[in-house]
Amino acid sequence: MGAGRKFSGGKNGIFYMQYYSTKGQVKPVSFKDAVLKGLPEDNGLYMPESIPILSEEFLKELSEKSFQDIAIEIVSGFVEDEIKKSDLEKIVHSAFDFDVPLINIHDNIFVLETFHGPTLAFKDFGARFMARVMGHFLQNESKEVNILVATSGDTGSAVAQGFLGVEGIKVTLLYPKGKVSKIQEQQLTTIGQNVTALEVDGTFDDCQTMVKEAFLDKELKEKLNLSSANSINIARLLPQSFYYLYAYSLVADYPEDIIFCTPSGNFGNLCAGVLAWKMGLPVKKFVAATNINDIVPTYLDTGLFNPKGSVRTLSNAMDVGNPSNFPRILDLYDGSHEKMSGHMIGKVYGDKQTKEIIKSVYKKYDYVLCPHSAIGYQGLFDTLEERGMNEKGVFISTASPAKFGDIVEPVIKEKVEVPERLQKIVKRKKQAVSMGNQPGDLKSYLLNS
Ligand SMILES: *Cc1c(COP(=O)(O)O)cnc(C)c1O
Repeated sequence: MGAGRKFSGGKNGIFYMQYYSTKGQVKPVSFKDAVLKGLPEDNGLYMPESIPILSEEFLKELSEKSFQDIAIEIVSGFVEDEIKKSDLEKIVHSAFDFDVPLINIHDNIFVLETFHGPTLAFKDFGARFMARVMGHFLQNESKEVNILVATSGDTGSAVAQGFLGVEGIKVTLLYPKGKVSKIQEQQLTTIGQNVTALEVDGTFDDCQTMVKEAFLDKELKEKLNLSSANSINIARLLPQSFYYLYAYSLVADYPEDIIFCTPSGNFGNLCAGVLAWKMGLPVKKFVAATNINDIVPTYLDTGLFNPKGSVRTLSNAMDVGNPSNFPRILDLYDGSHEKMSGHMIGKVYGDKQTKEIIKSVYKKYDYVLCPHSAIGYQGLFDTLEERGMNEKGVFISTASPAKFGDIVEPVIKEKVEVPERLQKIVKRKKQAVSMGNQPGDLKSYLLNS
């Protein structure tokens, strides 16, 4: 730290980490502003002006730390004095109140299960942390804040669960009628309290347009104090880096270096891993594993970043044709293709392979993978095998197979056990407000509700 620090002066001076835009067209802002704005006006992405380096002592003692200890240490470096330590501790303990198990599948292959939060996918880490940080910064606002989210499934429920019960914040979710899975719909429409689901008679694109129009509407913006919970908010990125350190603490002793593989779509999860490496975590290689939406693996091979339309696959949360966190990752490698491709390996798997992987891992090791995590497993396995099978590797398992029973069950020819909290959700009564697909429909609802 140092260069980017702004010292407010005085005996009890406060340090603020500054956040710049990857496009560099706007002035750097504080952590609070980066979180509340979400996106800089130049459409870049916020990045910390310097990356706090973890001390050797901390890294050596990693195996004695809890997940929460690690989280508090890391966030402190990124927020400096903007959030009091005691408040930060409260935020971390309430956001991460679920398990993050690490399992040895076979040989040197370990899986970190990041899907034990309320919506059974890793997005709970980012969403729960961001919601609490926003709630913290908004706690002295007299006006209620309204968060609007358009969702095609998973993100909406993670964000809504994250904000559930956070005081002073009201969440409105828009989802396309008939275009989300049964389980996803139950997750979106049975939350209650400060969360309302709107079932839009239209497509996901319609939902997104309605939300965008609402933000551009002066009357709504003023009357309702609208805010976004954008997926590329820095507060959603940071907490994903905690679990790379935590996984490391369970399999390796500093300074041994290991390999991480992350099944990726928008590349937020992998970006957080690279951030952890920049903080000092010893990572020999990252594996960027994708389905046939292979923009980043192609970039690693060729140096050409060519976004395309996304293609639908079985691992649908990774169907991304223009990975939005790519500029952040490249930035962490100093904008250098050579540096990035020297440290990151791309692996690509199609739907047929995905099913084969799920089947063979279940048969050989009695372990059930979701379609996304299957790609993570194989990316790691193939990489370790190519390199002689004597290194340790961890892949991130991003969702519970129970969320993808319709795909997984016919492949393994067994029922997938549904966790109790998901069973409860499936039984709850759906509560949604039906709505047309015009921006005016949303506006009149918001002004009259
Ligand atoms: C969102 C998601 C991904 C992709 O993560 P990115 O951070 O967008 O790369 C992978 N698997 C599951 C289950 C997801 O929900």
